[in-house]
Amino acid sequence: MTTIGVLALQGAVREHLRAVESSGVTAVEIKRVEQLDEIDGLILPGGESTAMRRLMDRNDFIPAIQAFGEQKKPIFGTCAGLILLAKAINGDENAAHLKLMDINVARNAFGRQVDSFETELDIKGMAEDVNAVFIRAPYILDVGRDVEVLCEYDGKIVVAQQDHYLCASFHPELTDDNRVADYFVQMVEESKKSTTVL
Ligand code: GLN
Repeated sequence: MTTIGVLALQGAVREHLRAVESSGVTAVEIKRVEQLDEIDGLILPGGESTAMRRLMDRNDFIPAIQAFGEQKKPIFGTCAGLILLAKAINGDENAAHLKLMDINVARNAFGRQVDSFETELDIKGMAEDVNAVFIRAPYILDVGRDVEVLCEYDGKIVVAQQDHYLCASFHPELTDDNRVADYFVQMVEESKKSTTVL
């Protein structure tokens, strides 16, 4: 049985649990670091990255999630979760959190005029018409050599993958379009197969 955890300290947790379950696997809320041992993949939800970071520090989540990723277990960051995964924020590595993905991000980057909007995205490997909701979203300013850009919107990178790490600027869990969750579930199932000793 494949189990995916959603970091449940702050943000859009419930919607991710529903999306993961719609993809046919078990979803659990992660509130303590010990629970990371029981899951095959982890989602870092949208919310407020600075607030989430404060709560993560109270529970020592930073080193625990870094160790989880180093075991090659897939992690998917959406919106604030993308910011948490980044190696640098506006070029500043000291401002970064988990530093697991070689991406440099800008927060709240679409500007005040378009704080929130909904659009269709053509995402490589997923679909040409994914329904996407952006809320005070970040985007990726630049990526390292090992990072594959899966989607750009308005000339800005909004979806990227680096090996077993996936990130999206928007909130895939807020629509009924489950194809982004399906893609991550598949990443988790493939990683499980390749790490299972036969
Ligand atoms: N603006 C938020 C941040 O900087 C992210 C917004 C979101 O997750 N919807 O953390």
